[in-house]
Amino acid sequence: MTGPRKRGKFLAMDLQIFRNFIGGRYTEPVSGEYLDNFNPGTGKLYSKIPSSDSRDLDLAFEAATMAQIQWEKSSSAHRAELMNKIADLLEAEIDDFAKAESIDQGKPIHLAKNMDMRRSIENFRYFAQILSQIPAESYEKDHYRSIIQKKPIGVVGLISPWNLPLYLLTWKIAPAIACGNVVICKPSEFTSVTALKFAELTKRAGLPDGVINVLTGLGNKIGEAIVKHPKIPAISFTGGTATGRHIFRQAADNFKKISLELGGKNPNIIFADCDLEKAVDVSLRSSFLNQGEICLCGSRIYLEEKIAEAFIEKFLRRIKRLKVGDPLASDSFMGALISKAHLEKIKSYIELAKKEGGQILIGGTDPADLPEVNRQGYFLLPTVIDGLPQKSSCVQEEIFGPVVSLHRFSSVDEAVTLANDVSYGLSATIWTESPQLAKEVSERLDVGTVWINDWLQRDLNVPFGGMKHSGVGREGGHHSIDFFTEARTVVYRKDFL
Ligand code: NDP
Repeated sequence: MTGPRKRGKFLAMDLQIFRNFIGGRYTEPVSGEYLDNFNPGTGKLYSKIPSSDSRDLDLAFEAATMAQIQWEKSSSAHRAELMNKIADLLEAEIDDFAKAESIDQGKPIHLAKNMDMRRSIENFRYFAQILSQIPAESYEKDHYRSIIQKKPIGVVGLISPWNLPLYLLTWKIAPAIACGNVVICKPSEFTSVTALKFAELTKRAGLPDGVINVLTGLGNKIGEAIVKHPKIPAISFTGGTATGRHIFRQAADNFKKISLELGGKNPNIIFADCDLEKAVDVSLRSSFLNQGEICLCGSRIYLEEKIAEAFIEKFLRRIKRLKVGDPLASDSFMGALISKAHLEKIKSYIELAKKEGGQILIGGTDPADLPEVNRQGYFLLPTVIDGLPQKSSCVQEEIFGPVVSLHRFSSVDEAVTLANDVSYGLSATIWTESPQLAKEVSERLDVGTVWINDWLQRDLNVPFGGMKHSGVGREGGHHSIDFFTEARTVVYRKDFL
């Protein structure tokens, strides 16, 4: 919940004005109030998004419940056909969407295209086909047969963060509507543009009005209204741990079904027998891709003492060559951070790290050579901190930016103990050429996903989610289908049917 946010009615006519998407139509917020939306790459105000409240939610809920009547009755083959059309249309418009995402979020445009948009397309294609692959479940005992039916839940609330805006929202929308639900989406106030554009695209692809509704605005206003709505029985949330905890409590009053994908502080454990060149290469990406604003980034690097200095020397040399700059330039490896407030928060962590005994080996400041147009943008160089005690705030708390800390270990037990010694448990990376060591360490880490000698490889079939304070529930494959349906059992005598 970081960043500049001014409220009030808009006056300027040269700004792009976005509206909510409700019941298949762009709709002004009932209050007439809009929020300022900044371009992180330039620091300039460039658009306005609706500041929605419970009155907009009432409209969206009505449109969604109307749509649900037909949508849940439609065949899964029909739903799959429409979802494939949506994927095709998004693929045809991929460059427009990538540019919109890059401007709104600050990420490099090639990343917006090749990671965010390609994954959004894949989300729809994947969930279009998965329904037909889930075997019907039934059991027989004595004279009875029990069949398991998976019923759609109804109107589902989907709340998403700013770091992978359309990517993470479509990861929720696709399974939700594939199962016959209708959705009310609340994207981050900082990155609502592609969600609104996408909702309109789904209408052009033939999706019935009201199946996907998008309300923009503040988390503690419209987000909270969705979570508290007594007739929205399920909430799928991705975002920070503090927000997730708050939502969990709010949702408890109505016993809502809830999925929480939360923060991470992921260890990257590098053993002396690893392929050092590859470990350095991939660690650059796992540390700084998307400006380090990926929940799966490895922000704590644990180095076996024997190779620590060699790794650090190569790592720093390669970091110097990473280009930080204009998100719209094809050669930028890192773009801008999401907001001025987030940039300041990260810089305050860097200052804190110095007080906690850390030594800044590289970065910690803005890039000196930005183009004129980007001088007011929210940029920070990739930053590496050495010497921080394990218990320091910068090692224990999620910074969510291009900042990593370096640590040394001398035994397997020490590496595992340090890696597990945070409240988060989202993911980890292990670097070793020993399959036995990799297996042993992966089994001892308290995290939802472990990568061995790689990072960010994703098969959409597998369960994705966090342990400890990194989340509740799993997304992916049939885990998403389980979340977006209610399983119920029908029992009858075998000779009846
Ligand atoms: P936030 O928790 O601040 O916000 C996430 C969403 O929740 C936003 O849409 C926000 O609205 C909304 N929100 C805020 N307060 C409430 C509330 N009281 N009720 C309902 N909704 C609310 O996270 P960020 O957007 O800052 O995203 C970064 C975080 O997301 C990081 O911690 C990161 O690790 C995590 N994340 C986790 C992932 C995972 O899969 N585990 C993947 C990606 C990110 P608004 O911002 O508009 O006010």
